[in-house]
Amino acid sequence: MKVQVCIIGGGPSGLLLSQLLHLRGIDTVVLEKYSREHVLARIRAGVLEHGFAKLMREAQCGERMDREGEIHHGFNIAHDGRVDRVDLLKYSGGNSVMVYGQTEVTRDLYEARDRLGGKVIHNAEDVTPHDIASDAPYVTYRSGEETVRVDCDYVVGADGFHGVSRKSIPKHVLREYEKVYPFGWLGILSRTKPVSSEVVYVKHERGFALCSLRSQVLSRYYIQVPLSDKPENWSDDAFWTELKRRLPSELAARLITGPSIEKSIAPLGSFVAEPMRYGRLFLAGDAAHRVPPTGARGLNTAASDVYYLYHALIDHYRKGDDSGLDSYSEKALARVWKAQRFSWWMTMLLHRFPDRVSYDDRLQETEMSYLFSSETAMRLVAENYVGLPF
Ligand SMILES: Cc1cc2nc3c(=O)[nH]c(=O)nc-3n(C[C@H](O)[C@H](O)[C@H](O)COP(=O)(O)OP(=O)(O)OC[C@H]3O[C@@H](n4cnc5c(N)ncnc54)[C@H](O)[C@@H]3O)c2cc1C
Repeated sequence: MKVQVCIIGGGPSGLLLSQLLHLRGIDTVVLEKYSREHVLARIRAGVLEHGFAKLMREAQCGERMDREGEIHHGFNIAHDGRVDRVDLLKYSGGNSVMVYGQTEVTRDLYEARDRLGGKVIHNAEDVTPHDIASDAPYVTYRSGEETVRVDCDYVVGADGFHGVSRKSIPKHVLREYEKVYPFGWLGILSRTKPVSSEVVYVKHERGFALCSLRSQVLSRYYIQVPLSDKPENWSDDAFWTELKRRLPSELAARLITGPSIEKSIAPLGSFVAEPMRYGRLFLAGDAAHRVPPTGARGLNTAASDVYYLYHALIDHYRKGDDSGLDSYSEKALARVWKAQRFSWWMTMLLHRFPDRVSYDDRLQETEMSYLFSSETAMRLVAENYVGLPF
């Protein structure tokens, strides 16, 4: 097979890039390790920056998102028994976020790829990039007994944190930056009315909690737990009891509980790999970086990589201009590190660290009271939460 761009990974980054390039006449193939059902069973992000929503529309995938997604003009932080609101609309200069689940984003992207007859190959085993430092890279994968070769101009590694693409960059070239947090988030999804129509982050002495939502009938709740905990050791009842303990009494009284339809623990960690380009291989999304979900930046940062790469490839094929490709890594990383900074700040502000000392507690309290007493601080948070410009 011969294509212009071979994309490894059929998650949101890979699918969005292939859809955008296809619409501009650039031939792509997406090689995904798992079945579509498997990819669509993942419950992950839910808050989309306005820039991401715009990109989905540009990819002709925004119709259902605009119909079923919810525009949120603010979010809340519960602390010290009360709830304070960050007014995104007011402090970001008129922007907001879209609440629409990553599962739905991925489903819409698959459907759009099907409509255009896009090439998406599932259950592609042993996907391996070759000769990425040369002018003639290719990718091989196994389909049953057969090994298939895909010749291409460029390879895009959009295969997530555990993928093969980043590992194919020589060790002496790659610099990796990592921070592992000493706790995880136990999350459940339930078909219940959310406790609040907007997202509520909770700072509590028993640990962080998050009241999030996918729609007005589908709730996503999380609580901070030690890394040693297992989801199977948390009954639904135990989860709801612990969540209620961490909520201000007025919210706890309103909480509607129900059976969980998904329950999992996500460890919290940050990671950045530099550079995001090696020869003819470009990394995008979680293949190059990840953040703790506290600031809702993971999927959104993946989208900004896609935006830069999409424009760089268009310039290459349409105008023979490679400046976008040459500056891709630097440009993407500048925004990636800002997302890292914001996610780190939100994580430090809201979590209970097992090794904290009383000095850390006082700093956290001061940070919180400063945030809600300063319009400048509020602006800073709102600007980051709705998404810095691409
Ligand atoms: C448990 C969890 C919860 C999260 N919650 C949030 C949240 O609340 N908010 C937020 O903003 N972000 C969240 N994130 C992060 C967000 O989901 C990711 O940033 C987003 O999925 C990145 O998209 P991606 O396409 O780059 O990578 P992925 O979604 O990881 O997609 C990569 C794809 O590549 C495929 N693949 C992997 N290896 C190979 C291979 N060798 N060959 C071919 N294909 C391969 C995978 O199967 C996958 O489909 C969460 C992540 C996790 C893991």
